[in-house]
Amino acid sequence: MLKLYNTLTNQVEEFQPLDPPDVRMYVCGPTVYDFAHIGNFRTFLFADLLRRYIKYKGYRLRHVMNITDVDDKIIARAVEHKMTLRDYTDKYINYFFEDFDALGGERPEEVLRATDHIDEMVELINRLEANGHTYATDGSTYFRIGTFPGYGKLSKIKFEGNIAGGSERVDADEYTKEDARDFVLWKAAKEDEPFWSTDLGAGRPGWHIECSAMSMKALGETFDIHAGGVDLVFPHHENEIAQSEGATGKPFVRYWVHAEFLMVEGEKMSKSKGNFYTFRDLVEKGFTPRAIRYLLLSAPHHKQLNFTLEGLRGAESTVSRLNDFKQRLNELNAEPGSTPAIISLIEKSQNRFEEALDDDLNTAEALAAIHDFVRETNAAMAQGIVKSDDRQALLALVDRFDSVFVVFGEAKKEMARCLRSQDAAWKNCV
Ligand SMILES: [Zn+2]
Repeated sequence: MLKLYNTLTNQVEEFQPLDPPDVRMYVCGPTVYDFAHIGNFRTFLFADLLRRYIKYKGYRLRHVMNITDVDDKIIARAVEHKMTLRDYTDKYINYFFEDFDALGGERPEEVLRATDHIDEMVELINRLEANGHTYATDGSTYFRIGTFPGYGKLSKIKFEGNIAGGSERVDADEYTKEDARDFVLWKAAKEDEPFWSTDLGAGRPGWHIECSAMSMKALGETFDIHAGGVDLVFPHHENEIAQSEGATGKPFVRYWVHAEFLMVEGEKMSKSKGNFYTFRDLVEKGFTPRAIRYLLLSAPHHKQLNFTLEGLRGAESTVSRLNDFKQRLNELNAEPGSTPAIISLIEKSQNRFEEALDDDLNTAEALAAIHDFVRETNAAMAQGIVKSDDRQALLALVDRFDSVFVVFGEAKKEMARCLRSQDAAWKNCV
């Protein structure tokens, strides 16, 4: 039985979907103003691992991810490059998926762009208005936090004082809010900015409303899992709950799952410290996507991960050992038959792997199970006790492990992926 730490209840809980075997999951996707960095990819690869393990457990998964393709940064960059919002974001969406695919990510069933769902957002804001949760000033519409008593239940922040929600996203019309905690649902159009003419007036959506509108459209008003980085708990996910439950009166999400921060060389990643890496920076340094994936998945998602180039070099030799192992097993000249000791090794290893991942996705322990399995199988091969039936069963288990981790990969496949890209930064990939 899979157990997950649920940020909402502050507990590790048994995962029980609403309508088994169906599982409905939403993951907050990238804001496409630039290349994604490896901290972003830690979250997306965690979601990929969760996705793959849910399928491994036999569930039928519907996984939806949004793309934030309108916000202040994107607008500024598009203007700077004299491109339309659509052309600018198309380019970075393509780059994002090139990186994501190369890192062994499996595409979600649905990827939804914010700007394709303006009608759904307006409709949701109208429902909130009908329920008395909004007010409009100077052409913008705000959510009035005071009308939603559950506000703070996810982040556990006590809102007695006057704490500004999402102060990092303060904009010029901030002063028109009645309460600093209120947040914007619809922003009035500004000069030289893209806008949509709707019955809320000319403007564009706030960031938070897009996830409520698109997730409920794709997955229904209550769904199973909502995942994202821990930096999204407040205010983004807290606001999503207020918007969704304020409109529907129903519980929005049953399990909130968050991935911790990625630290780089022991510090927070920042451009000024020179420890800021995109995936492509690392590929240019000669690292393989498979090793980057391995390192980013090597620590459980509820722990901070300290990313170092030294650690990445270690991951590089680990994945090449795993690949060599798989090749040796593939090429093993085995006699017919099977050995009971191998059958019990397979059973033991698979159980340990599943117990680790069932335990709130303890990837460190699951990888330890894989390494012990590899070591013991190597010893058995050296002793000559691996027979042809064993060999098939061992390879099948490797494939099962790899349906979740994707780290035994073949170099050739990676090269093909790299070559598919036209971008010059990939020249070192081969
Ligand atoms: Zn979101």
